[in-house]
Amino acid sequence: MDLMYSSTRDAGIKVTASRAILKGLAADGGLFVPDQIPPLDVSLKELADMSYQEVAYAVMKLYLTDFTETELKDCIQAAYDVKFDTGQIAPLVKADDAYFLELFHGPTIAFKDMALSILPHLMITSARKNNIKNEIVILTATSGDTGKAALAGFADVEGTRIIVYYPKNGVSPVQEKQMVTQKGENTHVTGIHGNFDQAQTGVKQMFADKELERLLDDNGFQFSSANSINIGRLVPQIVYYVYAYGQLLARNAIREGEEINFVVPTGNFGNILAACYAKNMGLPVHKLICASNENKVLYDFFQSGRYDKNREFKLTSSPSMDILISSNLERLIYRIAGNDAEKNAAYMKALATGGVYEITPDMREQLKDFYGNFTDEQETAQVIRELYHKTGYMIDTHTAVAKGVYDKYTAETKDNTTTVIVSTASPFKFTRSVMNALDTSHDASEDFELIDELACLAKVKVPAAIEEIRTASVRHHTECEAEQMPEDVKSFLGIRK
Ligand SMILES: *Cc1c(COP(=O)(O)O)cnc(C)c1O
Repeated sequence: MDLMYSSTRDAGIKVTASRAILKGLAADGGLFVPDQIPPLDVSLKELADMSYQEVAYAVMKLYLTDFTETELKDCIQAAYDVKFDTGQIAPLVKADDAYFLELFHGPTIAFKDMALSILPHLMITSARKNNIKNEIVILTATSGDTGKAALAGFADVEGTRIIVYYPKNGVSPVQEKQMVTQKGENTHVTGIHGNFDQAQTGVKQMFADKELERLLDDNGFQFSSANSINIGRLVPQIVYYVYAYGQLLARNAIREGEEINFVVPTGNFGNILAACYAKNMGLPVHKLICASNENKVLYDFFQSGRYDKNREFKLTSSPSMDILISSNLERLIYRIAGNDAEKNAAYMKALATGGVYEITPDMREQLKDFYGNFTDEQETAQVIRELYHKTGYMIDTHTAVAKGVYDKYTAETKDNTTTVIVSTASPFKFTRSVMNALDTSHDASEDFELIDELACLAKVKVPAAIEEIRTASVRHHTECEAEQMPEDVKSFLGIRK
């Protein structure tokens, strides 16, 4: 029997894993969730001897039950290969009093690579399984990071095209350079004369445009999304939590069965939800520690049971966590509401209309596995500086938010459980903020000069992902008005009319 996926908003919608991956979002706007969380079927001892790819297969086969062994193994081999700069894929590094799980060794040196390097392969396999002959066209609007990670994942994957829109004057120079130098005949990048919201709205309108859908279909194409709520992004993220446990066992840092904590720098709640799934699969986990920056809507939620997005939006030095609606939290709400789609749908409606909902005491009772806190801007810089001076280990701003929350947690609880802090970006991705935090008097104004200084201080090599864009030539020159996006799509796909 296949594990089926239901919508969090309508109990009547049930699909296979491959269908859920192709659709992304359920038709009612709900998120797909597995009907059960499958228990791990390898022993903890076995985990200690397994490679990243082996753990990936052991975990993902339990969720993607309509994939054959060969199909899934092929996806895993194609994703976790030399694109990563270490054979360990997700190495654990001990510094100070915790282990850092480095999820930034992929092509764009940040954690989105962990899922976006396999999603394209899961998607074309899903298309094949469901007899879809069309080419899959991924449509994305980006405010910077996700666009590049999606481009890198889909580049040259046969049977797919990827089109990315970004606000022409709304991303950093390094981010823009990363995108416009993207290789791959199936990639297309366009700068919009407008802001991120206009790019996002334009993409949503194209997804909803029935006439465009028909025109694409006539020409052998169909749209899909690489959005972070896709189950094809969530499932691969469970893998590294299980892998981290095996690695701790392998180096005798823990006894078999001993519980560990995970600290996760959180924005959309996808990464920490994957940790929660790992715990529910039977991985010995004590606390799931949810770290926010000054946009601390999740901290307030864990404190009070009230989710309230009506507040000032703050721009911080950890921009990937500057989020007021954590989309993936919906999957947790659904779960603690007793897998009740109707109840969850009512909360989500309240969120969409008034920006607030409050869960019941019963539901709060089920959040005991979680601890939430936040790190402000000044503390974030201090954490980077202090850890560097104490150990020589350099972390980025997002990881520093997590370390800051971990320090607060241990001070508050005196809990000395072995702890893994999830490190979501290379310090080289946020060079300027990291250098400012280190308080060194640098006069370099160019980002690339700062990068060299950082490499010198951290005593590490500049990552290949950064070296590459220093010299790479620009391949994508298109710009357009937001209203012209459908024309831009047709032109790239060679559709006349
Ligand atoms: C996306 C991102 C996060 C937040 O992850 P969520 O799954 O959205 O909670 C944290 N750090 C970095 C560097 C990211 O890119």
